[in-house]
Amino acid sequence: MRRSIVSRLSPMLAATLLIPATAAAQGAAKPQDPARLARSPKVKAALDYAKANEAKTMQEQVELCQIPAPPFKEQARAAEFKRRLEALGLKNVRIDAVGNVIAERPGAGPGPTVLIEGHLDTVFPEGTDVTVKKEGNRLLGPGIGDDCRGLAVVLSAARAIQAAGVQTRGTILFVGDVGEEGLGDLRGTKHLFNEELKGKIDYFISVDGTGLGLTKDGVGSNRYEVTFKGPGGHSYGAFGMPNPIHALGRAIAKISDFQVPKQPKVTFNVGVISGGTSVNSIPFEGKMLVDMRSPDPRALAEIDAKFKKAVQDALAEENARWDSPVKLTVEIKPVGVRPAGQQPADAPIVTTGLAAAKVLGFTPHVGASSTDANVPIALGLPGVTIDGGGKGSGAHSLGESFEATEDSYLGPQWAILYVLSLAGVK
Ligand SMILES: [Zn+2]
Repeated sequence: MRRSIVSRLSPMLAATLLIPATAAAQGAAKPQDPARLARSPKVKAALDYAKANEAKTMQEQVELCQIPAPPFKEQARAAEFKRRLEALGLKNVRIDAVGNVIAERPGAGPGPTVLIEGHLDTVFPEGTDVTVKKEGNRLLGPGIGDDCRGLAVVLSAARAIQAAGVQTRGTILFVGDVGEEGLGDLRGTKHLFNEELKGKIDYFISVDGTGLGLTKDGVGSNRYEVTFKGPGGHSYGAFGMPNPIHALGRAIAKISDFQVPKQPKVTFNVGVISGGTSVNSIPFEGKMLVDMRSPDPRALAEIDAKFKKAVQDALAEENARWDSPVKLTVEIKPVGVRPAGQQPADAPIVTTGLAAAKVLGFTPHVGASSTDANVPIALGLPGVTIDGGGKGSGAHSLGESFEATEDSYLGPQWAILYVLSLAGVK
């Protein structure tokens, strides 16, 4: 992906190196105090509405989840999500060029624009049975928590705020986005920030999954497909020719010995290897998929450079090993870049989320993860990911479940109070 550290970075990743990740929103109004807001009659009405309608939230969660949304094929679920946002009376409901669903609730002004979203896509391929089964308080189905819960919470928040007739200062955007998972590579959110709503989002909240945690730092990842190539030949007759799998082995040996810091956390993994045709052939190809992660963009750039050097050194060593006119080549192809970034613990978007949680009676775990919020965080813009309440297990597996705990309504309530505090209430 890049020869020198910066020159071949994707624009997004380059931004993480050039813009301090700690930069706060420029010019966004100060959030209002959630404790004071929660005492205002209309805000209280919205919170009560969400609690009273938790069963409806879960019903929508099931209904949306039974519409397949495989990677890159979110259209059917998007169309239904759009229909539901329209039915709530939101304005300018549309689907953008990459497939994100966007609905507006205009503010009375002046105030910041707050975007709240869940992701439409799942990790499950086409043809997966997405029927949701009910076992007591548990819902079982692929994607039921990740992220049908997020989508249902976004709808629930919109419905409650509409029903209570809360007049905000800033505009709220309710969004269902595409491409959060895997090779989707955050393409929906990247499009929102780089094209569709460029420069227009002051605060970003993604609702993703279950529980009551808050993600303030984005764990970035760089993923590559590395292919060593040569002509290949007979293992006996063509002996003396450099071997792509031997070169691959050299590269893996070097990567395996990487020393990384614990703080910030930096990880590396060779996840898949392939190549070769038979036991008695020098292969024409040796391939691996590599994933490296860190919440610190500089640390990620450092290990990325080390990895590329290891691959080039392995190539040079394998070519030098044999006195052969045949030389191997290598291709390092990026297959996913999730930009990294960190925010200070006292960033207004973080403290407001924690204050809203406190009003509702819980203390979220604050951590780092790889979510849609990576995109704004890496750009130096305020963004977080919050959980949608309830209890989940088995995300990304066919046995995924969502359990309606006694207080699962806290997910939607948190989203509501959080969004209103950021947007400001008249
Ligand atoms: Zn998710």
